[in-house]
Amino acid sequence: MDTIVNLCKRRGIVLPNSEIYGGIRSTWDYGPLGVELKNNVKRAWWRWMVQLREDVVGLDSAIILSPRVWEASGHVEVFTDPLVECLNCHQRFRADHLPGVHAGEEGDTVDVLKSPKCPNCGNDKFTDPRNFNLMFKTHAGPVEDDTNVVWLRPETAQGIFLNFKSVQSATRRKVPFGIAQIGTSFRNEITPGNFIFRTREFEQMEMEFFCKPGTDEEWHQHWIDERLAWWKRYGLSEEKLRVREHDADELSHYSKRTVDIEYAFPFTDWGELEGIANRTDFDLKAHQEKSGVDLTYFDDETKERFIPYVVEPAGGSNRATLAFLIDAYREDEAPTASGKVEKRTYLKLHRDLAPIKVAVLPLSRNEQLTPVAKEVAASLRAHWMIDFDDAGAIGRRYRRHDEIGTPFCVTVDFDSLEDKQVTVRERDTMAQERLPIADLVSYLTEQLRPV
Ligand code: ATP
Repeated sequence: MDTIVNLCKRRGIVLPNSEIYGGIRSTWDYGPLGVELKNNVKRAWWRWMVQLREDVVGLDSAIILSPRVWEASGHVEVFTDPLVECLNCHQRFRADHLPGVHAGEEGDTVDVLKSPKCPNCGNDKFTDPRNFNLMFKTHAGPVEDDTNVVWLRPETAQGIFLNFKSVQSATRRKVPFGIAQIGTSFRNEITPGNFIFRTREFEQMEMEFFCKPGTDEEWHQHWIDERLAWWKRYGLSEEKLRVREHDADELSHYSKRTVDIEYAFPFTDWGELEGIANRTDFDLKAHQEKSGVDLTYFDDETKERFIPYVVEPAGGSNRATLAFLIDAYREDEAPTASGKVEKRTYLKLHRDLAPIKVAVLPLSRNEQLTPVAKEVAASLRAHWMIDFDDAGAIGRRYRRHDEIGTPFCVTVDFDSLEDKQVTVRERDTMAQERLPIADLVSYLTEQLRPV
């Protein structure tokens, strides 16, 4: 894990936030390569969840909603984690995250569960768990009193439920259909950590799929299969993925059945990447009751009126980015110009996810090569994120691009001036082929076509 964190910092993928002030716990910024990578993860999600589906549309709702939303949804009352304090060092922890413990009922004393030890000082005595609400509270407007309390959303889903009727009528969709959204959510996590795995500000990629009651279990299975296939398609190793069923006492207050897609992160046995929940009609029903607005759906064909059931695949783009980075990390050996071999590090990122698609590398910084290489770079830049690099030995530049997962390097050498051809090197195999400059865009278009 340290290797990934160091690589991220050194190459400007993920950077510690507020570092000149000593940093702020578990808060990270995405540097030039990180923002490309995370955007590509979101693009890949949107492509498969919205663009390629005829039954899903997109939405971008606000972060601050009416506070009544969170009362109706149950979040004000029950969106909590069990908080315990070590009686020796007074550090606070999420009880169900202490080693050897799983979620206990409120009122259970943690030390009777499985005698966990404080990860900070090793003591084994804790306070009783108390429910700690994870929502960030603030005030809208200049006066700070109870009348203008608002919450930063802890999930993007509620914005979708509120817009169910308007989106359905504006798009003339018939149930079953889904509404997808990507956006920032906030949770006042008791124990954030493990790099970008758990932070207090993060992005979710959520889709609410509205279907007829009675068809919900089938749709739930459909989305479990679809989502698992997506993670594999974009490169996560099959043996590091699993689907885990929630126990009855673990289910969220709104859920009839939930499974998590989990990944074998190096810092934990298995960690959640995405939850896929059957939220039943809980949310629409709750909003209908609280708002007094009819949120039923009328089925023209069967002449039935009902509140749709909802299946929700909910993942996080930050955790996804971390998993793709970890899975892509490889070390092998590569030949040097002098015929020796040296260690190389490369990211075997799926081409759709790679931050830079093509690097253009003149063999050396030379007044004849540079203009030709710049011209090649300009012709590619209109199509993909590219990098132009003419500093240092060519082997070192290949290594630099391997390390950030650039799928193709295009080298302009002295022969290029005569034969108008360049060498294209592929990242994983290191195979090189010579191609006419005139064919480069069509060749790369074929190679980089999104899946
Ligand atoms: P956990 O059990 O890890 O706290 P959760 O079950 O509360 O997660 P969900 O409410 O299902 O998470 O949220 C959907 C997805 O949002 C998660 O699978 C994860 O990818 C992402 N996510 C949730 N909380 C965080 C966080 N604090 N930091 C980063 N990503 C998060």
